[in-house]
Amino acid sequence: MICPNCGTRLPEGSTRCHLCGRVMVPPSEATPAEACIIVIALCAVLLAISFLLFVVTGRLEIDLRLRAAVCLIAGFALTGVLWRLTRRMVPRLFGSQ
Ligand SMILES: [Zn+2]
Repeated sequence: MICPNCGTRLPEGSTRCHLCGRVMVPPSEATPAEACIIVIALCAVLLAISFLLFVVTGRLEIDLRLRAAVCLIAGFALTGVLWRLTRRMVPRLFGSQ
């Protein structure tokens, strides 16, 4: 198997990458329903953050499309951070030993 994070070749069945420390996710760990809920929750968070930023930056005199793009990008970044935090806090869902 190959580490999806750093591309290192690992022995089959490894639970963690010895190089970058990435925890491997066996496909059966999170049920499809759980994965679905997580994806929906992340999308909701992304939209909420982007919308919030869009409202907050409403007072600034920036081009509307630029503002929307910046808010969406920031939303993605913040959702990514939240996603990492969630994975750290709820390792059960992601196959940590
Ligand atoms: Zn790795």
